[in-house]
Amino acid sequence: MPDIFEITCEDKNNAFITLLKSAEYEKGGILSGIPVAVKDNISTKGIETTAGSKILQGYIPPYDAHVVAMLKKEGAAIVGKTNMDEFGMGTTTENSAFGPTTNPCDPTRVPGGSSGGSAAAIASGMVPMALGSDTGGSIRCPASFCGIVGLKPTYGRVSRYGLIAYSNSLEQIGPMAKDVSGVSTLMKIISVPDEFDSTAYHNQYNHDPDPESIKGKKIGIPSEYFGEGVDERVAEKIRDAIGVLEELGAETVECSIPSMSYALAAYYVTCTSEASSNLSRFDGIRFGPKVDAKRRWHEEFRDFRGEYFGEEVIRRIMLGTFALSAGYYGKYYAKAQVAKQNVRKDFLRVLKEVDVLAGPTMPNIAYKLGEKSDPLEMYLSDILTVPANLAGVPAISVPCGKVENMPVGLQIIGKHFDDETVIDTAAAYE
Ligand code: GLN
Repeated sequence: MPDIFEITCEDKNNAFITLLKSAEYEKGGILSGIPVAVKDNISTKGIETTAGSKILQGYIPPYDAHVVAMLKKEGAAIVGKTNMDEFGMGTTTENSAFGPTTNPCDPTRVPGGSSGGSAAAIASGMVPMALGSDTGGSIRCPASFCGIVGLKPTYGRVSRYGLIAYSNSLEQIGPMAKDVSGVSTLMKIISVPDEFDSTAYHNQYNHDPDPESIKGKKIGIPSEYFGEGVDERVAEKIRDAIGVLEELGAETVECSIPSMSYALAAYYVTCTSEASSNLSRFDGIRFGPKVDAKRRWHEEFRDFRGEYFGEEVIRRIMLGTFALSAGYYGKYYAKAQVAKQNVRKDFLRVLKEVDVLAGPTMPNIAYKLGEKSDPLEMYLSDILTVPANLAGVPAISVPCGKVENMPVGLQIIGKHFDDETVIDTAAAYE
């Protein structure tokens, strides 16, 4: 017989799209009776899953994502679905069709995005841990802005089965928690191998954080992570944090990732192209609000999508469709793939010489609500997070002090399938 977890807390920051009144859980697992929140683009059997979009309002998945099935197996009480930028497209959670989430550290500011709801649910104390997804920073950015810990695992380490795809070659589901140990515990559970994602390797994370292992580790400091656009006060906090790691016995070396100058362009061409294809399944017939189709199919399709997709989603579908169109494919999409490979090669090269890289997660502290209304300006703020997605390497954000009383995040990036050393380094700092 399952037990019942009653949910009584108030959602002051609009962290949830769906907050249940009670949740069943099985006694006995590692997470027995622990409330866990799940980002709303991760399928949950019997619980509405919208990905932050009106186009999926009312959609109730008939199955659990692999990660959700694994959480339930370990006794977690899934308390609800967290707010997010529509389909993960954003850096502030203001692109949600269900209103923005506010930052628990200062409600006049954004929580970061797109997993802003998950970060706010943890930072406000509603849940100790949550799942997010990270296509170009969506776990690390909100972790940084809300003062919690968030890991984007190595691409292929966690099954994406049941994740509503935005840009499938870049994204991973990952753990978010108050501390590194919570992230590590969640990672053990969600990285259980799964045959339903052909891009997932059978390489489970089965590790306990070892802060002592920092002694003798080599940390690379890429100069590009301290370049133009990075708030000097944020950079100062990161240098202090790196100083702490040195005191604990790590050695640091300067290094460079020259392809960073192409990273944002490569990211935005890749993710919009993949999104334009992935989102074609939302046609008004299979999912979400039902249309009473009477006209020609393409007219219904056009009007339905025009009505239910938000502005940013439409912008990205148009950009992606353009980049993939005959005549422009070679000029944009194919070039972006070359740039993506160059970023990967740069990371492989520098990570041969060092154990991990360190720098800021975000160039700034959390923005005021409404401050990033220009889409291009918002895209620019992803400059320090997208490279790890392009390269497929693991990266974590761990809190490291405050500027204007708002949290700053230290980003630690590791080698492919060495999420363990990334977690150990974060644990040493924490
Ligand atoms: N801000 C980035 C974007 O808008 C990253 C989002 C994400 O990781 N889902 O695409």
